[in-house]
Amino acid sequence: MLALEEPQEVLRRVFGHEGFRGRQEEIVRHATEGGSGVVLMPTGGGKSLCFQVPALCRPGVGIVVSPLIALMEDQVAALRQQGVAAAALHSDLPPDEARTVLRDLDAGRLKLLYISPERLTLDSTQQRLDEMRIALFAVDEAHCVSQWGHHFRPEYRGLGVLGQRFPGVPRLALTATADPRTVEDIRKQLDLSEAPVFRASFDRPNIFIVAEPRESERSQLRGLIRDMRGCGIVYCGSRAKTESTAEWLRADGHDALAFHAGMDPLAKRDAHRRFARGDDVIMAATIAFGMGIDRPDVRWVAHLDLPRSPESWYQEIGRAGRDGLPARALLLFGAGDMAIARHRIAESPASEEQKRVERSRLDAMIAIAEAATCRRALLLRCFGEEPASEECGACDVCRTPPRLFDGTVVAQKMLSAVLRTGQRFGVGHVVDVLRGRLTDKVAQFSHDKLPTFGVGKDVADSTWRGVARQLVARGVLDVAVENHGELVAMEAARPVLRGETAVMLREETVRAPSKRSSGAGPAPVSSGDPLFDALRLWRRGVAQSQGVPAYVVADDRTLGGIAAARPDSVEALLDVPGMGRSRVERYGDDILRIVRDEG
Ligand code: ADP
Ligand code: ZN
Repeated sequence: MLALEEPQEVLRRVFGHEGFRGRQEEIVRHATEGGSGVVLMPTGGGKSLCFQVPALCRPGVGIVVSPLIALMEDQVAALRQQGVAAAALHSDLPPDEARTVLRDLDAGRLKLLYISPERLTLDSTQQRLDEMRIALFAVDEAHCVSQWGHHFRPEYRGLGVLGQRFPGVPRLALTATADPRTVEDIRKQLDLSEAPVFRASFDRPNIFIVAEPRESERSQLRGLIRDMRGCGIVYCGSRAKTESTAEWLRADGHDALAFHAGMDPLAKRDAHRRFARGDDVIMAATIAFGMGIDRPDVRWVAHLDLPRSPESWYQEIGRAGRDGLPARALLLFGAGDMAIARHRIAESPASEEQKRVERSRLDAMIAIAEAATCRRALLLRCFGEEPASEECGACDVCRTPPRLFDGTVVAQKMLSAVLRTGQRFGVGHVVDVLRGRLTDKVAQFSHDKLPTFGVGKDVADSTWRGVARQLVARGVLDVAVENHGELVAMEAARPVLRGETAVMLREETVRAPSKRSSGAGPAPVSSGDPLFDALRLWRRGVAQSQGVPAYVVADDRTLGGIAAARPDSVEALLDVPGMGRSRVERYGDDILRIVRDEG
């Protein structure tokens, strides 16, 4: 089929980008020529252009299935800013607006139509589409079709008929979930078994990864916020914790919100909107806050509790830095979370097969948290990807490699203290015994009479706690979470006590809170340049008057590009990445004036 315009030209003219990234070009060419396929790309990898550009190059309207209304609305707003005739059709649209959209669709005035799956699977919608030329179908967030994930949407199953109903129309399924089981499900359910799978690298080198044992959650989070500033997400393990976290962050003077599945739909939508539009807003959320976060300028993502798998963790941290600018992920973990997560799996009603899968995912997550080698290399291997190097240079381990020591003797001391106190005490008391502290509890149980009393005087408390945690991580100790957090020795403790296995431990680096995160990671974007600040201020005004998120007007990368280039003409402005023709026509005069005034 003859393309109306070359993809490269559309990329430049409409989106203002110089070139495609990674596998985008290949995918765009394939779809423009009428091919179907499955696209696996990490969040922020640039999936949208993979269907937007072919839709604009081919005759007819591109139909985009999207599971979330907020996501649709923001994408449509962004496309309109670029001068693309786009619209959204979903159940929340007032009837008169829906009628307008349908009229535009029938008249062939739309180039892209975003639609909810339930609306697309309606017979009346499909009859309407029979009458018109369709450029392509794109199924965004295609993992929603799979029961394996946590985002299963039954309506997605109905999309399997599109291939037969509209033969000859290319279909793209796009997702950031690369888990093989999910991918197979997508291919099967969406009738794409014959189509190629385009798998991009899942590496996101601009996200600096840090994992720290939990010491003081608040001060660790404060350090991150101070270093990175900007918009961020704090993932919490429980609904109650999202609320309490948002509360103390507000008390700290931040614009912080909570989000969890227990909120009513209106409150959720409001939170989504405020998150999309706020300047330096912080969202404290459970994993229910996920899809629909389209903001490219999230600067950091923190996890206060251990995620259940590397897959979900990566998807969550992938929400940071979609604009390609420096971002940071912080993971806090402790012995308690590991034990809780293990027990949760053991007690879940899932099948043995499912439990085995979940256990291995959790173990992979714990291994990343406790890693003494590059965290990114471990992470990429979880996705079946061979890292380009064993040292990424953009994780805390690569930046400050931890020291390992032969911890066999300290491990034996700790195990012996646990066993001799009857496996009935938590880590605090066990450490007191090891350090030889005569506390009330020690006296009450006569633990000062034990041979292990005081054998660990010369080792710091924090080191002992680290030893306990690392032994829990390896399954040598367990924490009885259903009781009072007593340490319990497991089968794997035997060879350690007998001296048959050496235990290499990571030295706990106890840094001062203020220093902890400095030196580890990137500086934030263009801060301190008055022109950049002036452009941001101008953008905020435009966004407010149009009722759209600020990045829809222009993202930080584009503003940073303008601040760096200081263009003095329309031509120079057109050369700034992100400044397509439509943006320049709309805002060129304003921007050039600001550059002149600040210059
Ligand atoms: P995804 O949907 O895969 O999470 P997006 O499509 O939202 O990612 O793209 C993420 C960011 O990358 C957006 O800000 C987008 O403008 C930018 N982007 C995508 N492709 C390119 C490209 N070829 N050149 C420059 N920027 C790009
Ligand atoms: Zn690394």
